[in-house]
Amino acid sequence: DNALKLLREVPDFPRPGVVFRDLTPVLADPDALRAVVDGLQDKIDPDTQVVAAIESRGFLLGAPLGYGWRYGVVPLRKPGKLPAVAHRVSYDLEYGTAELELPADAILPGQRVVIVDDVLATGGTAEAACTLVERAGAIVTGISVVLEITALDGRARLAGRNVSALLAV
Ligand code: 5GP
Repeated sequence: DNALKLLREVPDFPRPGVVFRDLTPVLADPDALRAVVDGLQDKIDPDTQVVAAIESRGFLLGAPLGYGWRYGVVPLRKPGKLPAVAHRVSYDLEYGTAELELPADAILPGQRVVIVDDVLATGGTAEAACTLVERAGAIVTGISVVLEITALDGRARLAGRNVSALLAV
């Protein structure tokens, strides 16, 4: 895809040996941003009502999806940011653990929710996002990302779920 030619690969970030896929130049380009948001929308289940966007770069994708196609937008946030929390999930990272929180009074039981983020790596974050949405009694219609890093096999961790990526590397 043309838009993703702007993807920047940053060696040794955030740690030595890791190649970070940086979407900043993609989002900074008006045509590429539009192509990426339209591309995500094309693969979202048509019965979806809400976009749950993962902090922080998922927010930049979730808001235009919600505005453009009339989804509600709910931020899934790192700890300490939300004034009222409905649910919190801890999950393992390569080094240490992380937490993600679902805001109170944002997702209703039975709502159909798509999870959106920029990159799918190990899938740990997306899995935690699914857990949060399901704890609220809602239904995950899919996980939509711009870029999937296939070597980390996030798809296996999300087995049985509808995962879509605009580009796989
Ligand atoms: P996970 O390993 O849980 O799938 O990824 C962890 C989180 O870090 C996700 O929110 C994902 O978007 C982000 N992430 C992991 N690797 C990269 C990367 O190379 N580039 C970008 N932009 N985000 C990454």
